[in-house]
Amino acid sequence: MSLSVGRLAPSPTGAQHVGNARTYLLAWLAIRSRGGRMILRMEDIDSPRVKPWAAAQAIDDLRWLGLDWDEGPDIGGPHGPYVQTQRLDHYATALEQLKAGEQIYPCTCTRSDVAAAASAPHAGQEGPIYPGTCAGRSAADAVGLTVPYCWRWRTSGGRGPLEFHDAVAGEQRCNLSRELGDFVVCKHDGTPSYQLAVVLDDHAMGVNEVLRGDDLIPSTFRQLAIYDFFGWPAPGYAHAPLVVGPDGRRLAKRHGDTRISILREAGQGPERLVGLLAWSCGLRPTAEPVTARDLQSDFELARLPKERFVLTEEHWKSICE
Ligand code: GLU
Ligand code: ZN
Repeated sequence: MSLSVGRLAPSPTGAQHVGNARTYLLAWLAIRSRGGRMILRMEDIDSPRVKPWAAAQAIDDLRWLGLDWDEGPDIGGPHGPYVQTQRLDHYATALEQLKAGEQIYPCTCTRSDVAAAASAPHAGQEGPIYPGTCAGRSAADAVGLTVPYCWRWRTSGGRGPLEFHDAVAGEQRCNLSRELGDFVVCKHDGTPSYQLAVVLDDHAMGVNEVLRGDDLIPSTFRQLAIYDFFGWPAPGYAHAPLVVGPDGRRLAKRHGDTRISILREAGQGPERLVGLLAWSCGLRPTAEPVTARDLQSDFELARLPKERFVLTEEHWKSICE
């Protein structure tokens, strides 16, 4: 068995909340309970919403939770830099390989072009399926374009349905071209998309186990196609159920303020929050205060409930007062 290498990969787009804390705790436990290596990576590309203060706050929140890592932006390490905006040259090299392999093509469609041409009237979480308008172009056609363009991954011609075994969600299967369609790997401004950056980084950093929120299951199929192109082994995946509000929607501001920093700045320790999370994950029978370290010895991902966890106001109050 090779050493487990995992990562915590916050996006500094805002404050980290209880839902993020639960996923980080699980990702950390999955690795640390087996003596594995942990990496912290700041995912600060692919979002217009990156906030200058949020990266430092995320690091403070993670440390406060009792999590640690062997490599990261704050401590360095052999696979740095650990901040995506400092890794642009790595991405540029890969992009050239994708162009040379005609795996991607320049797409001049605007967001509304794609929405208008898509057959499904209601675009879900994943957005409309790209109708293939620009798929006839080759990579070299980018040279003559006078309007902004992004680069899209060509899903047609890929091998059959993609499958993976998820350590939490079980067997997963998807026909990428039919169910998700061609996706953006590099935006109009030349920065890579999350899909591309995450694969290149996980591979470069030796990450072989990924635990993240179950909202990213569709993205995993896109990422598997990228691993396939490069001929790299994909990591093992575990997608943990998200925390939702009483209305069943993903935890957000509308459900009240559940920022980790509120507890930290109030001078609290993490034990009550970690206790609540441990109980929500089936790791403890009650929400008694506990530390992340305490949970390491008998951690079992298999105990994690398959349903999303509904955080109520009472839960939050019980750890705040
Ligand atoms: N940076 C992403 C997020 O915070 C996580 C991406 C991943 O784990 O692959 O949602
Ligand atoms: Zn297009």
